[in-house]
Amino acid sequence: MNAIGLKQVQLAEIRMPLKHAFETSFGVTTERRIIIVTAVDESGAVGYGECTAMEQPLYNHESVDAAWTVIAGSICPMLAAEPPQKAEDVAEILSPIKGNRMSIAAIEMAIWDLEAKLLGIPLWSHLGGTNETINSGVSIGLQSSIDVLLEKVKIELDAGYQRIKLKIKPGRDLELVKAVRDKFGDILLSVDANSAYSLTEHADLFRKMDKLGLLMIEQPLRAGDLIDHAKLQAQLATPICLDESITSPVDARQAIEIGSCRIINIKLGRVGGHSAARAIQQFARESDIPVWCGGMLESGIGRAHNIAMSSLPGFVLPGDISASERYWDQDVLTDKVKVHSDGTINARSTPGIGYQIDIDRLNQLTVRTETIDLSLTQRIHTPYEKRLSNARH
Ligand SMILES: [Mg+2]
Repeated sequence: MNAIGLKQVQLAEIRMPLKHAFETSFGVTTERRIIIVTAVDESGAVGYGECTAMEQPLYNHESVDAAWTVIAGSICPMLAAEPPQKAEDVAEILSPIKGNRMSIAAIEMAIWDLEAKLLGIPLWSHLGGTNETINSGVSIGLQSSIDVLLEKVKIELDAGYQRIKLKIKPGRDLELVKAVRDKFGDILLSVDANSAYSLTEHADLFRKMDKLGLLMIEQPLRAGDLIDHAKLQAQLATPICLDESITSPVDARQAIEIGSCRIINIKLGRVGGHSAARAIQQFARESDIPVWCGGMLESGIGRAHNIAMSSLPGFVLPGDISASERYWDQDVLTDKVKVHSDGTINARSTPGIGYQIDIDRLNQLTVRTETIDLSLTQRIHTPYEKRLSNARH
């Protein structure tokens, strides 16, 4: 195809009230502030992406307000200085930026969607996906009591979800897992600690948890800590899955090399978008490490990108994708993401992310906007641009 002629980037912050509050070890979320990124090309074609940063820098260092500044003030000027010829270029052009991967991913996802639409093919096949049927599990937040938790688990199992994941935090862990095991028997069950524990204080707790037949223990220790995770993994039969600790293909390689984990949760935002996600799943696959797609309480746009990513061959475990209606009374798509009664989602054959955006709903939820015209914005030249230009000439 011809090169993409990226003309404009539109940012919109939406506020979506969650159906139910979602509690993890780092806090309670009742409403999601989400930046929707629209990439517009010279022909007027558009692609959509979503920034998965949380309102506050508690999941990782990124936040909605900081991401807005980085996208408008750094990413767009860098793309203006070195316009991407294709979606694959975006991650490389933005590689001089340290961290801020959710900001990078938001725009990279929009450009991948745009490119797939220009080609007239679904994003999942454009990325090289091979699985049209995506297996889905659910993540259940901390609940007010064990009885409430058991009721929630029953609802999700009845809905067909293939794997139940329980959020845990110190003091609310072992007894939750035991109660769910006792009541529901041999279901696919995992836990996610969101970095809340330490090796020195809690190794014994995880050795007890090791006896409960979990599919995995997700991110028990501090984000970024590969060494202590390797020490803990050596003491456990249950695979450790890393989430927060894996921010790039290099992290994934190092974690696998030193035995920090036996499973990886890939999140598009956390790793910087589709190119990085694809590289991680490929390396993990070559290393016999299963991967799956994690969730960040996305709107339908982020959810649709997650479905596309999950079609790649390394995604062999059920992801946290879930139906729109699990989180939202009304999504930003005209047709919601639906999960079949066997816990599967179909990748669609429609070009791009495969779902129509409900523009009226999007406008209704929008609280601020900014349009960046790439021909008018400042240009930030980076060392990378020089390398790219030299390589081309
Ligand atoms: Mg997690």
